[in-house]
Amino acid sequence: MKKILILGSTGSIGLNALKVIEGRPDEYTVVGLAAGRNVDLLLRQIERFRPKAVALQEKEGAAAVAERLSGKPKPEVYFGPEGFKRLALWDEPDTVVSAMAGSAGFLPTYAAIETGKRIALANKETMVMAGSLVMDCAKSRGTSILPVDSEHNAIFQSLVGHPREDLRRVIITASGGPFREMSLEEMASVTPESALKHPNWKMGRKITIDSATLMNKGLEAIEARWLFDLRIDQISILIHPQSIVHSMVEYKDGSIIAQMGVPDMMTPISYALSFPRHFETFLPPLKLEEVGPLSFSKPDQTKFKCLGLAFRAVEIGGSMPAVLNAANEVAVDLFLERRIGFLQIPVLVEQVMEAHRPHPIDSPETVMEADGWAKRTAAEFAGRMDLAN
Ligand code: MG
Repeated sequence: MKKILILGSTGSIGLNALKVIEGRPDEYTVVGLAAGRNVDLLLRQIERFRPKAVALQEKEGAAAVAERLSGKPKPEVYFGPEGFKRLALWDEPDTVVSAMAGSAGFLPTYAAIETGKRIALANKETMVMAGSLVMDCAKSRGTSILPVDSEHNAIFQSLVGHPREDLRRVIITASGGPFREMSLEEMASVTPESALKHPNWKMGRKITIDSATLMNKGLEAIEARWLFDLRIDQISILIHPQSIVHSMVEYKDGSIIAQMGVPDMMTPISYALSFPRHFETFLPPLKLEEVGPLSFSKPDQTKFKCLGLAFRAVEIGGSMPAVLNAANEVAVDLFLERRIGFLQIPVLVEQVMEAHRPHPIDSPETVMEADGWAKRTAAEFAGRMDLAN
């Protein structure tokens, strides 16, 4: 029986993880849940899964949960970054689903890795911000990190049973997002509403915008570089609008192994929890005869500048990927608040990267320093930006 802690239980990945867990009560039990601000949903999850401890982002949320459970058997309730860290360090869970959104997920995930628990990793920011530090830590503690991100899960599946030295490269697929066929001119005036309509995947707001700019694919390239110990020139990106091939691995003899499936996060979450088994998920089967043609093409980097910025950041190394990530988080928030245009997202990220003097990432503190610096700098630069698109 796996005892699971979910960091980010009320988000899109958290909800899917709970569906997977619910389907296998003989295999999995929930011992802890950490959420942001969604008190009502967390209360329903507490009633259903009876965790021993929970944490919320804010003190008020934690107080509301404790009050509304008064008189009933209730879990320990914690709050804030300290509360998240406490759950991550707790010795009750053996498996942690790391599914908080954005850079806030880094510290609790790193704490969980330090304790040697098995990690089902959905929070790609942890790898983007501090890949070398995280992998060194995982190695020294004997921690397994199993990727939940569908592309990395596909690569992971395509690596099983193949000698590592025979690998030539990995090919990460991208849907291309909702603006794949738009001209730059049209992209200049897209709204948050249209950017939030992803053609294939249902996801949280931040990652949906990142999918529209292709920054998500850039972050995934950085994540793959560290997770699978690749050189950056061993990572290719292909646009595949049908989102059926979730990624591929090419071997030196020319063989390409791909993992396919319906675009539903239940499959990669289930595999990250059940590895090396493939348990029943009760998803409708993939019927290739009904999907129609599968197509592949190179991404247009003149339209999607975020992709090139991410590759540049990982080549520079040190604190630069954390800076790219933090500046992008600020830019996405500003876009969602209609304070900058869609095409200003890469402009702002690039300005912050150019102003940064990269330093080594050798502790969680140095990571958070780069993150904080980039967020402050991005906010300051955005204040001076010409807001006309
Ligand atoms: Mg992905």
